[in-house]
Amino acid sequence: MSTATITCPKCHKEVAKGEVQERRSFGVYAGKFCESCCSGYRDNCGLDQAQGSQADLDEPIEPEEYYGSEYEDIEYDDLC
Ligand SMILES: [Zn+2]
Repeated sequence: MSTATITCPKCHKEVAKGEVQERRSFGVYAGKFCESCCSGYRDNCGLDQAQGSQADLDEPIEPEEYYGSEYEDIEYDDLC
């Protein structure tokens, strides 16, 4: 037992300890997983290639839709 292994939280495979790292894909934090899991990302999480930029994404990552606009018309005059 000279090789320490760790279970990848994503694929649940035993991989070499140290292979499970925090990965980023297209500049966005993708999670903590092994190198094999990186291949599931279009930019390979920057592994052995340049990490993709968000400008290259077909489906840009957008913030959650804002549902608060319907409340903007509430008048607060009575509260003053
Ligand atoms: Zn994995």
